[in-house]
Order: sequence, then C-alpha cells, then structure tokens
Amino acid sequence: MDKKEDNKKSANEQLQEKLFLAKKSCWNKFVDKDRDAVFRFGEGYKRFMDSSKTERRCVENIIAILKKHEFKDMAYASKLKAGDKVFKNIKGKCVIAAIVGKNSEQLQLVGSHVDSPRLDLKPLPIFEESGLALLKTHYYGGVKKYHWVNTPLALHGVVFTKEGKKMTISIGEEGSDPKFIIPDLLPHLAKTQMERKADKVVEGEELNILVGNIPINDDKIKEQVKLSVLKHLHDKFGITEEDFACAELELVPAGHPVDIGFDRALIGTYGQDDKVCVYSSLMALVEVNAPAHTAVGFFVDKEEIGSTGDTGAASFVLKNFCCDFLKLTGKDISTSSLLEKSNAISADVTAGVDPNFKDVNDPLNASVLGRGVSVEKYGGGGGKYSTNDASAEYMQFMRGILDKNKIPWQTGELGKIDLGGGGTIGMYLSRYGMNCVDAGPCVLGMHSTCEVASKVDIYCGYLLYKAFFKE
Ligand code: MN
Ligand code: MN
Repeated sequence: MDKKEDNKKSANEQLQEKLFLAKKSCWNKFVDKDRDAVFRFGEGYKRFMDSSKTERRCVENIIAILKKHEFKDMAYASKLKAGDKVFKNIKGKCVIAAIVGKNSEQLQLVGSHVDSPRLDLKPLPIFEESGLALLKTHYYGGVKKYHWVNTPLALHGVVFTKEGKKMTISIGEEGSDPKFIIPDLLPHLAKTQMERKADKVVEGEELNILVGNIPINDDKIKEQVKLSVLKHLHDKFGITEEDFACAELELVPAGHPVDIGFDRALIGTYGQDDKVCVYSSLMALVEVNAPAHTAVGFFVDKEEIGSTGDTGAASFVLKNFCCDFLKLTGKDISTSSLLEKSNAISADVTAGVDPNFKDVNDPLNASVLGRGVSVEKYGGGGGKYSTNDASAEYMQFMRGILDKNKIPWQTGELGKIDLGGGGTIGMYLSRYGMNCVDAGPCVLGMHSTCEVASKVDIYCGYLLYKAFFKE
C-alpha cells in the first residue's frame, strides 16, 4: 500500500470525523512557547495558593494584585468613566473588581469563591485532658472528617482583645513554625472504630487539635497545661479564654502546593476549590484593557456553606456594588436592568473522573483531567435541584467564544444523577435574570486536604475568562 493510499480515509471514517465529538487530551495543543506558558502560569498559581489558604488571606492577596494593576478602592472614587479600574472590599472577605466598559449597561462577570472547607475553632475551644491542651473545632463546609486527622495544620485568623485590639494570628506556614494536629487512633486499638461508618470514623466532636503539653509548675492549679497555653497566648497576643468568642480562627493544612507526577503536569494543594478560579479569573481581569462591556471579577465568600451570610453570593453584595457603580458612572439605568442584561460565568471546579472510583460518573458526560476547561450546563443534584441550568442560547454564546479563541474545552457533570451533587454560586447569579453558566477546571479529591488539578485545564480556564471579559 503506498503512502497516499494509507492516508486516505474511507467515506465512513470521514463521516465519523465530521459527526462525532473527538475527546482527547489537549496537552499536545500546547507546544513549545505555549507549553512554557502553561507551566509558567502554574508557578504563579502555586505562589498565590501558598499564601491564600483562608478567605481573609486570599482577599488580601487579591487586593494587593489589583492595586499593583492600578485598580482603585471604589470608596474613594467620585466619578467613573470608561477604562477606570475599581474594587470594593466587603469586610475583608469578599471583593468585587471592575473595569468600566465603553458600554456600561452590561456586565461581563466572572464569579468565584474565596472560601474552602476547613476547621474553625469553636467559640470556647480550649480544654485540658490527659496531660494535653486541646482546642475544639467545628468543621466548615463538606468535608470527609477522617481527612483531617494526622495532618499537620496551620492556624490563621483574627481575634479581639477585651480592649478591642484586633490581633492577626498566622502560625504554621513557615518551616520553623510549630504546627497543630489531630491524632487518629492507632490501628491496634481501632477495632470498634473501624466498624463505624466512614462519616463517623472520626466524628465532629472528635476533631480536637493538640496545642500543648508543658504544665505550669503549680500543684494548686487544676488545669496546668491549659493555663500554660493561655499564658503563652496572653504573652504573645494579649488574649484570654473569653476572647476566643470574638475571633475567627481557622485550621488549614500546613503543607505547600506541589507538582504531581513525573511530568509535573498536575498540581496538588489544599483549597483549589475554588481558589484556582479566583487566581485564573483575577489574572484574566488584570490583563484586560478598555473592554466593551464592564468586566467584573466577583470574589465571594461562604460558597462552601451555601452562599449564606453577609459576604456570600446569596446576599445583596453584588446588587449593592452595582448601585454604587451606577451612581459613579452617572448612567441613567436601574440596577436591576444592569444586572438583568449581564452575562456571567460561575467559575468553579467540577469533579474529574477518578480512575480509582470510576463508577460514580457517567463516562459519556464526565470531565477528564487534561481535556481543557469544563463548561457545565448544570450542577445541582437529583432532578436538577439547586442549580442554574444554562439556556441553549447561552451555551451557544459560550461555545462561540471558545471556538473563536481556539480554547480547548469539555462538558462536565457532577457525578451520576442519583449519587449526590453540589451547588455553586451560579444559581445566585442567575436570580438577577442574567445569563450564567459554570466553567472551571475539573479536580480530583475535591474538598480534601490536597486537591489535584491539571495545569493545562487551569490555563484553559484562564484563557476562557480572559476571552469572556474581552467579548
Ligand atoms: Mn467550589
Ligand atoms: Mn466546594
């Protein structure tokens, strides 16, 4: 058979090529300089993640990057014109950043969340038992509680002294810092524990962290280790036991982001849900200049507990921002009309197919690591509860952007229909009547202490958000 013959495809092969959706890795679409760009983006992302583990620290880093790119605090603006860059800091836990468009009657908004599952300290956490001082925690968001034992943890947050001084605490990130830990039961004595169901292998009230072992040398004191720990905290931060009630202190894994695999294609770190989309949409936003429509980065808190609260997407923070924004631009349109005419991406991660647990996915519709950004028409659970099911029209609009900019993408679904599910901020954005769809990289081990994502999917997400802002 000659070479020419060999290359010739049969009519049916050609038909298949035309009609079937080809599903394959997009890594080889990024070669040479483009491959370098993918890896370089991963390096910046890891640096960001290393110091953005809590919502407060993440917001601080977002604002620092925005300021570096000439975004100004909207609180000090008296007027806004096309091309101006502003941000609003909402209680240090939520940021809305915007570049005023030439046509400010519509937003192109990308929303992501700054919070991740973690362990919070209880209002009165400290106690002593069996020669040890411990702190009681209350888990935040959907965790498998057994992930959190035997893992060195760092403590971050704020606490007020009785006199009203706000103290910021951050212990456990530096190599020389002490860490904290919840020891699991040794296997030798775990016969009864191992008979518990997985969600009870470690129960909520057993998530108590070790914080001290040296007692105060005084037999008149009943809880000598507790007193010794409180003395240390008082010497260092000026706080007492009651002050824990006026605090937000969070425990997160103490490790650093790492490359995974011989080829370094993957990144493993805590908090990729959803700081991967925070970083990639932020990088996209700061690279946009003079967009036609107002480009908005919405970095919001509390998604992991249902978007509730004063810094969550179910609050009116976005609406309030738009009221202020319209006043400053002098545009004679209502807030509701601005929001209703807008386009949004709910930038969030989805579940990738895990080769060890393939059964939980519909293989036809699930996302695979390395195949580009996942555009998910709907999430939710059961009969499409708790989701915004994007319209065909908007899916077509999104496909147009992806195709025009040659951005590799795939569809996604959060597991088999009746197995479970999960919501995003998409349903809260769509309440305004704006178009909305979920899009972000798929991950493995979501909500674990070390989530895994592919560098190329992260990069494709960034490319999509940037193209979307420029639309
Ligand atoms: Mn998420
Ligand atoms: Mn989540």
